[in-house]
Amino acid sequence: MAGKVHVIDHPLVQHKLSLMRSKETSTSTFRNLLREISMLLAYEVCRDLPLTQVAIETPVAPMMAPMLDGKKTVLVSILRAGNGILDGMLQILPSARVGHIGLYRDPKTMRAVEYYFKVPDNMGDRNAIVVDPMLATGNSAVAAVDRLKASGPRSIKFVCLLTCPEGIRVFHGAHPDIPIYTAAVDERLNEKSYIVPGLGDAGDRLFGTK
Ligand code: URA
Repeated sequence: MAGKVHVIDHPLVQHKLSLMRSKETSTSTFRNLLREISMLLAYEVCRDLPLTQVAIETPVAPMMAPMLDGKKTVLVSILRAGNGILDGMLQILPSARVGHIGLYRDPKTMRAVEYYFKVPDNMGDRNAIVVDPMLATGNSAVAAVDRLKASGPRSIKFVCLLTCPEGIRVFHGAHPDIPIYTAAVDERLNEKSYIVPGLGDAGDRLFGTK
């Protein structure tokens, strides 16, 4: 079964992504753009969330109104760059619960090593949305989802800003059941495992660490 890749090609998303890619873009602008673009991605990712009918009264009449159960959504940030997407998504989903997965890339093997894992209780009742701006080698995303699946969430989606064919192949090789939502599928990975043309190191650009 081939995994699903949803490319969110809305002009607002594409415009903001182009600004983020430019090396002239400052840290504060990059951060604001990531927050804005994440709100737009959240809009698409949440398209099929279940609604329940809740009794309310408008100033005119009682009605049954469709509402989300926000607490059933868990946003899971892959540290540290995932926190940039998390900030934007939490503005759209303020009641969502939050999990964090800390992974670093071993510079020799390029494999993901876990140093932190914390998700809410009762994951069996919750729909998880895993966020990380760059799906590059796919190794951290696979490790994060391996770990998350062990906590038994009702569903998982993976959201990134950018990916490439190698990242998709590795991720869906391990997790063909998890849909990927992305703003673009770039050309390739370079020898340092950066996405080309990409936007550079998302964490450094977000936090101004280089
Ligand atoms: N991580 C990044 O931040 N950028 C890339 O291009 C690849 C992985």
